[in-house]
Amino acid sequence: MTQEITQRSFVFPPFSEQLQPFPGLASKMKPLPDHGETSYQGTGRLIGKKALITGGDSGIGRAVAIAFAREGADVAINYLPEEEEDAVEVIRLIKAEGRNGRAIPGDIRVESFCDTLVERAVAELGGLDILVNNAGRQQYCNSILDLTTADFDATFKTNVYAMFWITRAAVPHLPEGGAIINTSSVQAFDPDAIVLDYAQTKAAIVAFTKSLAKQLGSKGIRVNAVAPGPYWTPLQISGGQPQEKITSLGAQTPLGRPGQPAEIASLYVTLASMQSSSYTTGQVWCSDGGNGTL
Ligand code: NAD
Ligand code: MG
Repeated sequence: MTQEITQRSFVFPPFSEQLQPFPGLASKMKPLPDHGETSYQGTGRLIGKKALITGGDSGIGRAVAIAFAREGADVAINYLPEEEEDAVEVIRLIKAEGRNGRAIPGDIRVESFCDTLVERAVAELGGLDILVNNAGRQQYCNSILDLTTADFDATFKTNVYAMFWITRAAVPHLPEGGAIINTSSVQAFDPDAIVLDYAQTKAAIVAFTKSLAKQLGSKGIRVNAVAPGPYWTPLQISGGQPQEKITSLGAQTPLGRPGQPAEIASLYVTLASMQSSSYTTGQVWCSDGGNGTL
């Protein structure tokens, strides 16, 4: 058993400014995010399950990949080719648990790739029980007058269209007891001024989740979402926020700090597990450091 985590283990602001080009690498962040590499302990809640996680190379997706593998699942991750360095580490950690870990890089803004991604995941894992739509694009923009159609389009393609394309391809493969978990955000409910496009996509994810849960209930497939508050991940430091906000990320929450990806992984595990939440569908679970967004 590892030692019980205390408040002192966490990292508080101020942080240093550290702009990386999108999509950014977790391995270059200072301080390094905690994805549960040395702390997450499984209890066998996903033994034999097969999961596909988008954005599984870093941040919340990496923490979920590590947790799923330690709960006994085989895991395929998708990410952008420029994130290979982060992805290699995740695959290493999955394999260290004796699980099947598969890397399937590619750009999910492309519909045909989304079909290929699901086909490959099903073939390489030998089936699919759990889909985690977690990849996301957040690039702040101060004014609607400066928000280009290309940026608006890229945000919607990544966060909304890809979720639709990947889920549509995955549903025929999901068995009774299968689960879909989408990553929304507190921005869906309390949007900041500077993420006009992103906040809309995160609200769309909530409606998608609730509608699809009603479609798939009769098949015994549960569909839920997680709404994180500020978490210490590459998304934030690679254009998600202005650098002057990075220095105080999470300071405005009652806990006074950003969450570490490891701190949210267990919500995904619980939602994925029939043992833990077989009667839970169409829900949005929030973890925001106490701001009380939801
Ligand atoms: P992250 O940068 O670690 O993960 C985002 C991932 O999205 C990237 O690793 C990348 O692999 C993937 N991605 C982006 N564009 C892609 C594309 N075109 N094709 C394929 N993959 C692509 O950051 P994160 O914060 O862990 O983000 C995970 C999810 O959490 C996102 O949906 C994000 O919106 C959501 N979220 C994050 C926060 C936060 O504070 N970090 C808060 C609320 C919601
Ligand atoms: Mg990444």
